[in-house]
Amino acid sequence: PTMAHSKAFLVLENFIGGKFVPCSSYIDSYNPSTGDVYCRVPDSGKEEVEAAVKAAKDAFPIWSSKSPLERSQILNKLADLIEHDLEAFAQAESKDQGKTITFARTVDIPRAVHNFRFFASSILHHVTECTEMPTMGCVHYTSRAPVGIAGLISPWNLPLYLLTWKIAPAIACGNTVVAKPSEMTSVTAWMMCKLLEKAGVPPGVVNVVFGAGAKAGEALVCHPDVPLISFTGSTLTARRITEKSAPHCKRLSLELGGKNPAIIFDDADLSQCIPTTVRSSFANQGEICLCTSRIFVQRGIYSEFLKRFVAEAKKWKTGNPSDPTMDVGALISKEHLEKVRNYVKKAQAEGARVLCGEGVDPLVLPPGNQKGYFMLPTVIAEVKDESCCMQEEIFGPVTCVVAFDTEEEVIKRANGVKYGLAATVWSGNVGRVHRVAHRLQSGLVWTNCWLVRDLNLPFGGMKASGIGREGAKDSYEFFTEVKTITIKH
Ligand code: NAD
Repeated sequence: PTMAHSKAFLVLENFIGGKFVPCSSYIDSYNPSTGDVYCRVPDSGKEEVEAAVKAAKDAFPIWSSKSPLERSQILNKLADLIEHDLEAFAQAESKDQGKTITFARTVDIPRAVHNFRFFASSILHHVTECTEMPTMGCVHYTSRAPVGIAGLISPWNLPLYLLTWKIAPAIACGNTVVAKPSEMTSVTAWMMCKLLEKAGVPPGVVNVVFGAGAKAGEALVCHPDVPLISFTGSTLTARRITEKSAPHCKRLSLELGGKNPAIIFDDADLSQCIPTTVRSSFANQGEICLCTSRIFVQRGIYSEFLKRFVAEAKKWKTGNPSDPTMDVGALISKEHLEKVRNYVKKAQAEGARVLCGEGVDPLVLPPGNQKGYFMLPTVIAEVKDESCCMQEEIFGPVTCVVAFDTEEEVIKRANGVKYGLAATVWSGNVGRVHRVAHRLQSGLVWTNCWLVRDLNLPFGGMKASGIGREGAKDSYEFFTEVKTITIKH
């Protein structure tokens, strides 16, 4: 591009040792709602990761020796600064990711702020264990210390939300970090770096290296001085990270994909269940690991449910994400849109019925968004359990609805996938709700609601949805090393 042209691009720089540093090469980043390149992201590799790890290592002695209270005050200050710029962050997240401005304003950025406040507070309240052994004249107690340099790798769907869910507990516990956001959504992480000095985060405590997974991400995973990796992303990448980190015996937390069922019994309150299940299917274009994509409805209410569900889904407006009246924005990339569309085609080829959305209803877009990666909320019925649409994570605005007869049957079918992240159960029968919740292979079970989170409690998946949990106590345990000390008196 010419000089005049290149000025139109936002150019990001790595943040290492408290300073912004340019990179020798860059990756194009697209605005998903227009299809235009608008930003250049550093294409970092080993060299940049090496510099960031060194900065994190240098900062570790001072940061780890601060009291939890001192660290807490800094985290709270950072939360205040992000909150002060909430609108700018929300606009940037929407433009970079394609999500609606409303979602960014009400979910992504408020939650990023809350992540810092939550861990600023929770770090002050942990207690360690102590046991006595009078016959031996001994007291045992545990002490916890930060692990060292934490490598944090995050995906593109909830960019700042998920990155801060890792940075906040890591630094609250006294670690220093090298973070690598998704190369497709790096802007808000870069904006946050601009606030770190003002918040009082010492140079080198938070380093951000931008770039591709296979290059920058892998360099971080393979670095011998990074003993711990917290990763959120796909199951396929997690496998690669596990293999690459195995020779170093790294501590891993893996938050992965889902194929989440909603189970709707015939005594469910449909006036609550239908709008919530539309939301759990299509929020953030269906690009949330917790989104519902298999809806099991008890036979007696199946046809009524389907009719009302499709009518509700059709109310969701798809279009320019910066328009606050829109419910569905653009998908992350052209390739991803193609992948999601292909699932719908495969379902049709297998004889399933597409009731609304892709290929059925017209998608009307404003002139500026014609090249954006949009797709209407799509509902598919009569899909076989073994179909790829019922087995694989689609990660787009597509949901499948099928009928079931008995409790026993639906539990088996709901558990019949490789994933186990989040399930939803709808019923007015409290005994049934408990019974079913206990038997579902799922790290999270929401009954008669969806996405209501208390950050105190464990978050994470079973089976191919992950290893480890994060939350107040869980993140504290993950980001610290425990020691048992025995004192004889
Ligand atoms: P992804 O696995 O492609 O990428 C995630 C991150 O890993 C990115 O930063 C990427 O650059 C990096 N990466 C890719 N290859 C790497 C490698 N070889 N070594 C190191 N890092 C590498 O996932 P995505 O497409 O960005 O995100 C979507 C996926 O994330 C979905 O499967 C979704 O379910 C999952 N997800 C899970 C949760 C959860 O909490 N369980 C939350 C959000 C998203």
